[in-house]
Amino acid sequence: MTQRTAVVIGAGFGGLALAVRLQAAGIATTLVEKRDKPGGRAYVYEDEGFVFDAGPTVITDPACLEEVFAAAGRRMADYVTLLPVTPFYRLAWEDGTSFDYLDDQDALDRQIAARNPADVEGYRRFLAYSEAVYQEGYVKLGAVPFQSVADMVRVAPQLARLEAWRSVYGIVSRFIKDEHLRQVFSFHSLLVGGNPFATSSIYTLIHALERRGGVWFPKGGTGALIQGLARLFREIGGTLLLDTPVEAITTEGDRVTGVRAGGRTIPADLVASNGDVVHTYGTLLAGHPRGPARAKALAAKRHSMSLFVIYFGLKRNHTRLAHHTVCFGPRYQGLIDEIFKRDKLAEDFSLYLHAPCVTDPSLAPPGCGSYYVLAPVPHLGNAPLDWAVEGPRYRDRILAYLEERYMPGLRSDLVTVRHFTPVDFRDELNAHVGSAFSLEPILTQSAWFRPHNRDDRIHNLYIVGAGTHPGAGVPGVVGSAKATAGLVLADLGMAGPR
Ligand SMILES: Cc1cc2nc3c(=O)[nH]c(=O)nc-3n(C[C@H](O)[C@H](O)[C@H](O)COP(=O)(O)OP(=O)(O)OC[C@H]3O[C@@H](n4cnc5c(N)ncnc54)[C@H](O)[C@@H]3O)c2cc1C
Repeated sequence: MTQRTAVVIGAGFGGLALAVRLQAAGIATTLVEKRDKPGGRAYVYEDEGFVFDAGPTVITDPACLEEVFAAAGRRMADYVTLLPVTPFYRLAWEDGTSFDYLDDQDALDRQIAARNPADVEGYRRFLAYSEAVYQEGYVKLGAVPFQSVADMVRVAPQLARLEAWRSVYGIVSRFIKDEHLRQVFSFHSLLVGGNPFATSSIYTLIHALERRGGVWFPKGGTGALIQGLARLFREIGGTLLLDTPVEAITTEGDRVTGVRAGGRTIPADLVASNGDVVHTYGTLLAGHPRGPARAKALAAKRHSMSLFVIYFGLKRNHTRLAHHTVCFGPRYQGLIDEIFKRDKLAEDFSLYLHAPCVTDPSLAPPGCGSYYVLAPVPHLGNAPLDWAVEGPRYRDRILAYLEERYMPGLRSDLVTVRHFTPVDFRDELNAHVGSAFSLEPILTQSAWFRPHNRDDRIHNLYIVGAGTHPGAGVPGVVGSAKATAGLVLADLGMAGPR
């Protein structure tokens, strides 16, 4: 039998993981990426000796990554070293208090008791709840495709039992009374683009995921993990084309036949897109009647917020910072509401500060520090701001705020600085309305309600990444690759994914 062929469009975490799985299963796979490096949201910038991971920095559930290497008969440890991060995060408020969230029950209990003794018991009950959701939502369903209504009906009783219609914040508030602690245990859904006040309580599973599997950082940065996956893919015979934007998915009737990219046609038995779902249907599949109609329906859904990210190198390594700090501003719900719904930037902000040199000083010249800071901001569909004007202003406000509260002398220590705006998410990553996380992970846009891992009409077109089940975040998109690979192999009558 002739060897089957596949094209995967986009080399984000999801595209890479799928490409490895398909190639490892014996399908000759070509991974086609528009940018000059793989990684997608996990791109890497290098400026004057500073290395900046562009996106994901909190690596959870290393087992899901290990599985990708194992699918190809390799060990992740031979490609990249994961370093434990402690505390997992530091949560800091403007009143000068902070909370170190870490995997040490006694230390957690002490900090919780200092805020509200009754919440120690409440936290235990919350952890048990989040553990139950983790078992149902992640272990059982995180890498299983939802292709039919029946798949959804089957899980409805579990979702009902876990009260999945409640919000993350709603569930946390039931167990925990102190407002700061409610923030500590509810902000996580923001990491995958979910509003804690609107996202399904299913996303509390992130808490159990972190407590069980830890928080990790790859030595050399998240980019080293991407490089490891890209090397693995090439070693097992895959073809990685960089600087090659796909212009169209070619079709014949209701079958895809390959892609058109850089003036050439790459034929394939199947195509999987790791690109944004609206871009995939609206632009790449514009030549098929399914494309524009599906794109219109998807564009009308709720999209996650965008982000404004500043990457900066300092001639100082602030060693007293935690690796990950969430710097809460004066408001929580009010600010989040504005980020998800308003048509302009709020006056205040909450920030996530990444200080990787605390864990791995090799990411900056000796004695220096690489950093990034991000602020969640409205996407361009809600707030069509002129970021060429707003960006530099917003950057200066955020750096001044950090200097005042967290990093004395920041601006005089500055060696290099660059920023990434919602317009860059749109133009560089083809992200609809510049969303940083694709479709918002609300219950009515999750599981079967999310774009399916295989298209319903064009049966050799597949989706992988944040826009399909289960959703955004590294474990999410790596899980989506497993779900999609499982479908491909079943459709081709080949053995399931290893
Ligand atoms: C700033 C930031 C911080 C984050 N932090 C974390 C974190 O700490 N932990 C975590 O787990 N998650 C985090 N996330 C979320 C996580 O990074 C993403 O959900 C995940 O990486 C998305 O992966 P993906 O597979 O969907 O592909 P993407 O990363 O979206 O990659 C898609 C790829 O497709 C390419 N592409 C698009 N169109 C075309 C085309 N026409 N032709 C060829 N190529 C194309 C793009 O260039 C891109 O490389 C963060 C996200 C951001 C933005």
